[in-house]
Amino acid sequence: MMKVMLFMKMYKQCPRCGKKVLINETCQCVIDNKRKKKNEYQKKYYQNNKKAVNMIKNKRWRNLRKLIIERDGGFCQRCYHKFHIFETEELQVHHIKPRVDFPELIYDEENLVTVCKQCNLQLGTRHTLDFDFKPEKISVKLQGKKEEK
Ligand SMILES: [Zn+2]
Ligand SMILES: [Zn+2]
Repeated sequence: MMKVMLFMKMYKQCPRCGKKVLINETCQCVIDNKRKKKNEYQKKYYQNNKKAVNMIKNKRWRNLRKLIIERDGGFCQRCYHKFHIFETEELQVHHIKPRVDFPELIYDEENLVTVCKQCNLQLGTRHTLDFDFKPEKISVKLQGKKEEK
């Protein structure tokens, strides 16, 4: 009796397109849709990434970068807070909330922190810092630097 059951083909109706599909299979339309969505996501990610890269290729960013490093005393905040080391080589300005996902925060001083190359790599694109640091606004400083054309 069990054997009969095993040879019976069980069907279900695809909730998406209404087609009859085998109970243990996924309808092709669902597979196609998943693929389409994935492609769209990748395309969007690529575009956002391109945009984000361009946004740190201008003078506005270069000026801000300089000011952030100044604000942070010219040393890696992660090395300092985590290991009590003053690292002043290969400094980079890290976006706490990643550029690609938060393009609106690219020039936000409170989203920026000075770290060394190694720390930047280790931080990667996680959305938070792994050390205790609260970036401050430097807008007052920025006002004073307006003479730059
Ligand atoms: Zn379907
Ligand atoms: Zn560091």
